[in-house]
Amino acid sequence: MNNKTIILKPNEIPRQWYNIAADIKLNPPLGPDGKPIGPEALAPVFPMNLIEQEVSIQRWIDIPEEVLNILAIWRPTPMIRAYSFEKALNTPARIYIKNESVSPPGSHKPNTAVAQAYYNKEFGIKRLTTETGAGQWGSALAFAGSQFGLDVDVFMVRISYDQKPFRKTMMETWGGTCLSSPSDTTQAGRNILEKYPDTPGSLGIAISEAIEAAVSDKTGKTRYSLGSVLNHVMLHQTIIGLEAKKQLEKVGEYPNVIIACAGGGSNFAGIAYPYVYDKINGKEIDIYPVEPEACPTMTKAPFVYDHGDEAAYTPLLAMHSLGHNFIPPPIHAGGLRYHGIAPTLSQLINDDLITPVAVTQLEAFKAGILFSRTEGIIPAPETNHALAYTIREAEKAREEGKEKTILVNLSGHGNIDLFSYQKYLNNELSNLKLDDEALEKSKDCYKDFPEPEILKSV
Ligand SMILES: *Cc1c(COP(=O)(O)O)cnc(C)c1O
Repeated sequence: MNNKTIILKPNEIPRQWYNIAADIKLNPPLGPDGKPIGPEALAPVFPMNLIEQEVSIQRWIDIPEEVLNILAIWRPTPMIRAYSFEKALNTPARIYIKNESVSPPGSHKPNTAVAQAYYNKEFGIKRLTTETGAGQWGSALAFAGSQFGLDVDVFMVRISYDQKPFRKTMMETWGGTCLSSPSDTTQAGRNILEKYPDTPGSLGIAISEAIEAAVSDKTGKTRYSLGSVLNHVMLHQTIIGLEAKKQLEKVGEYPNVIIACAGGGSNFAGIAYPYVYDKINGKEIDIYPVEPEACPTMTKAPFVYDHGDEAAYTPLLAMHSLGHNFIPPPIHAGGLRYHGIAPTLSQLINDDLITPVAVTQLEAFKAGILFSRTEGIIPAPETNHALAYTIREAEKAREEGKEKTILVNLSGHGNIDLFSYQKYLNNELSNLKLDDEALEKSKDCYKDFPEPEILKSV
């Protein structure tokens, strides 16, 4: 019998997160006056203990015992060797899949949701507001809120709200509430509805609504929570890569190639940053974040200062951005429909430490179908982007006759995304085209902002 699954014992779970801010240079976030903001500027939005983590440059940060106790529900997560997928691809490459789909909500997102709920609870917060694209983040935070007794209000991007009613059911099952965004409960939502009553919504709009709902709550006991992009979110996800390292060590492997999809960048950061640390220290690894061609933040958007949300409530972040007013085409990988990408990930692109790539919606679903029919797990539409690029790498290994070790993050399962699979199977999906004119126009929204420095970390 093949040694299919590589597991860690409960006591082998990593006890610290890896903070990449200790090892790279970053442009600071800027306030409305164009000057770097201090931690206190974020205090109405996040609890101070998380703000401290956001600005920390300490390399290793202890994971609190209370967080580990909840992560223990599904962590350490298994890693599988994708023998059948390899065989179908007729590749000499060895493909290892880190399976983050085994968490209760079905993705990597609760790794940070649990940590964020814990720090908010510690700080005396009673209610969290947030946005969600495909619904994975909203359900992860609702789950985490239920573990710590926090109320959770989720603004869900309209197109996903309509396509994935069961995500709302999950949130409500865990005691959260879920509103379609844009909603009429916030000024940001009402403004958009007035201008574009038929909008499919966007993560940028939903973030604005969630921030507004948090800061306008007079009790002072409500904060906002973000599921990706920010430094502390990337930090909490590194438990994925730290576990993966231990698992590959058990079978005497070290990856030549690492692949993960990237929307805001958090599951990619999770699997890749602990290895980026090795790369900074001399290891040779090819590291690929994969995005949709229809929302090409990393491969086509310039590195600029821009807001993280549509209504410009967030500080200016130095990142690759399609423009905070840009509404991406309604592809089914809702979690990858974001106009920006994590500042740390953007800096790694500038440093040439990672190589962004893009695939189409149809290529992604085709890969998801092959993976489902070989390895059994039905991946999330987002994850399919990583698998599509894995196929390209596996084929390259075959052409070059090279035995490579490829590590892939399976960020989530697609069991609640079957609507999109059905459309694919019915031949009703197409490769949505990016509206080049709209993209050009959206650049206007950041042209008056300061320009970030092109820094070199190594
Ligand atoms: C949210 C989500 C993503 C995209 O977000 P990142 O922050 O880039 O990881 C990818 N895959 C799944 C399954 C998701 O839920």
